[in-house]
Amino acid sequence: MENRIYNFSAGPAVLPEEVLLEAQKDLFALPGVGMSILEISHRSKTYDAIHQEAKEGLKQLLNIPDDYTILFLQGGASLQFSMVPLNLMPPKNKADYILTGSWSKKAMKEAKRVGTVNVAATTEEGEGDKKYFKRIPKQSELKLDPDAAYVHFTSNNTIFGTEWQTEPEVGNVPLVCDASSDILSKPLDIKKYGLIYAGAQKNMGPSGVTLVIIRKDLLERSQDSLHTMLNYKIHAENDSLYNTPNTFGIYIIKLVTKWLLGLGGLEEMFKINKKKAQLLYDCIDQSGGFYKGHAEKDSRSLMNVTFNLATEELEKKLIDEATKAGFSGLKGHRSVGGLRASIYNAFPVKGVEALVDFMKDFQKRNG
Ligand code: PMP
Repeated sequence: MENRIYNFSAGPAVLPEEVLLEAQKDLFALPGVGMSILEISHRSKTYDAIHQEAKEGLKQLLNIPDDYTILFLQGGASLQFSMVPLNLMPPKNKADYILTGSWSKKAMKEAKRVGTVNVAATTEEGEGDKKYFKRIPKQSELKLDPDAAYVHFTSNNTIFGTEWQTEPEVGNVPLVCDASSDILSKPLDIKKYGLIYAGAQKNMGPSGVTLVIIRKDLLERSQDSLHTMLNYKIHAENDSLYNTPNTFGIYIIKLVTKWLLGLGGLEEMFKINKKKAQLLYDCIDQSGGFYKGHAEKDSRSLMNVTFNLATEELEKKLIDEATKAGFSGLKGHRSVGGLRASIYNAFPVKGVEALVDFMKDFQKRNG
């Protein structure tokens, strides 16, 4: 599309053009309905069909078994930092957290308000305000409590650009995952998880809707004393319609799942994601040290490629020139600096190729 630029934003992030065009077409009036998704009641038959199709799309893509419930909540992934411990910690009141970045630390902070947190592993390095993470721990580093209420981990660390290549092995303790920045990027074995949550605004849709996939038996842990809107069981009993959900966000999720199924599903998407990330990591690794990858190689993320140049001046120069050339959002997170190319599902291969050409040319001129 002529008037669109390459959007490397970490989230909200690029959406498939087909999805945007379909949403645009139907925004005045859904076919045969005479009203748009922004205007219809969440209790209408039309909306109910959209709600069910969004769930069905996710179910098909992720192969979600029948003993799991799919919820569409609000409050972002950040509210899940609280809802997970509020619902799942009792009665044991202790949980294991694996720390691999800023988001897992934030999740742990909320859990500590509810009960006892055991840090099963942390890969944090550095001192004072120069602390950082650059790797995923090995299984042998995990100090798990077999009696914990659950084990929490962050599958992809959006800020540092690291990603778990496979889930941690946690035995019979329910595994809880913040998959905000890599959900739907590759196939998942849902049966390994007790609960998965993810804000929609990277790989699924707009901000304002959070997906929660929870094994049904865990709903029994939610106590009646919990505030209604914080209670998974209430949301499950009401099919996420206890209150008005983010109808537009769920409609976009429906379109995104349809787009992914049309591509051939998550195996196919995974192949494309590996190809895109490989192009960028090869460019970094073959630059003779001009570009330095932040993450350790075996912990590298397919979604967020983080790297540095020799000086902050050079990094700024690259970002300025890249912005002028139509590459948006390459600045690293304010807490770590450097550069970050977020290349979620909808980011096109040709955009990665164009960035690689640009980086090679920049190195020639400045190396
Ligand atoms: N977890 C991860 C891994 C994230 O990347 C983010 C947002 N970038 C969050 C949690 C917080 O999400 P939200 O803004 O939806 O609360």
